Amino acid sequence: MSSAACIFCKIIKGDIPSLKLFESDKVFAFLDIQPLSRGHALVIPKFHGAKLTDIPDEDLVEILPVAKKIAQATGAVDFNILQNNGRIAHQVVDHVHFHMIPKPNEKEGMT
Ligand code: 5GP
Ligand code: ZN
Repeated sequence: MSSAACIFCKIIKGDIPSLKLFESDKVFAFLDIQPLSRGHALVIPKFHGAKLTDIPDEDLVEILPVAKKIAQATGAVDFNILQNNGRIAHQVVDHVHFHMIPKPNEKEGMT
């Protein structure tokens, strides 16, 4: 299920370019276009849904192992996994996404 108007569905289809990190039948991961730190990634279900509550469990369970692999691949020791639902919770793109945000030592530059 995808939405023709959704920017992340277009990224999954390749209609909008992205720096892809991972793809499986249910999950897609790519670098955030406005990274909060080097390696800031977005991990998303291919199933289109705006909020966590819209996504089937069988799709959701495949997300966190991918976020874990990306965290390991970046070498990040400290990192945040964030997932916003709704405008009041600061969600901007209405396709479920998990941010994987490395938190490098401040001496390394971007925090
Ligand atoms: P939200 O606030 O909805 O949790 O975060 C949406 C994220 O999507 C933001 O960090 C933003 O930089 C990212 N984003 C929005 N549009 C694009 C895009 O076209 N390409 C990529 N790679 N990231 C995007
Ligand atoms: Zn979508």
